[in-house]
Amino acid sequence: MSGKGFKYVIEHMEEDDAATKALPDWVKLEYSHMLKLVGPSSTVHFTSLSSSSIPPLQAHLSAPIPSSSSTAEGGDGSIHLSSSSKAHPTTLPILELLPTLSPPIDKTRVCLLDPRAEKVLSPEDAEHFDVFLYGGILGDDPPRDRTGELRKLGFEGRHLGEKQMTTDTAVGVTKIVVEDGVPLDKIPYTDFPTITFNKYESIEMPFRYVVDNKGEPILPPGMKEHLKADLNRTIDEF
Ligand code: SAH
Repeated sequence: MSGKGFKYVIEHMEEDDAATKALPDWVKLEYSHMLKLVGPSSTVHFTSLSSSSIPPLQAHLSAPIPSSSSTAEGGDGSIHLSSSSKAHPTTLPILELLPTLSPPIDKTRVCLLDPRAEKVLSPEDAEHFDVFLYGGILGDDPPRDRTGELRKLGFEGRHLGEKQMTTDTAVGVTKIVVEDGVPLDKIPYTDFPTITFNKYESIEMPFRYVVDNKGEPILPPGMKEHLKADLNRTIDEF
């Protein structure tokens, strides 16, 4: 593929943690994961209509990725840590962000990843778009179509298949399609995997995930531990 870089823009639409005013842990894990999933010439931009979320986002993500070379993380080659992908938190909503980018980007060059879009994302879309836009939303089950708030802004949309993905998975799949040139239906997935912690504890995740070369769902580093801690917290509350 051309090695062209893209801008992946996440419209942060989740409430901050009421108590700590910080980003919820799952947001931190997903957003950090995105920085590793996009290609070496690409960047990830976090926008937020509620600008109160930016300072926590800034605090968590603006530190540059550790300057290690682009070594494969975890040794299985599934996630390449690219030292040139950096987080770009901004308080500008997407339509105000576009003219400030260099070069400034026209709205027609933005693709909204929308589960309800007519057309499926294809490798050819690498020529039509420079920006891919996502809702920074914890997937609901069943989905409540919160992506609709971004659809109202009138961007061209593409879907990634009929199953809901987490935002980081949607970013990773987009990269594989437009940066690596792999058609959507040639990517190995698993739907609604059960994450097992031990003989008694497991949790089903209501999403489609890309699988690694061992057939395991690719989760953000640290997410399995976070889910287990959450599960134990929930059980303790009973
Ligand atoms: N529950 C939310 C979606 C959460 S998924 C809703 O119903 O809108 C978070 C984001 O990932 C979405 O806003 C969208 O940008 C992207 N996404 C997830 N699955 C997708 C799919 N199958 N097709 C296109 N975009 C998807």
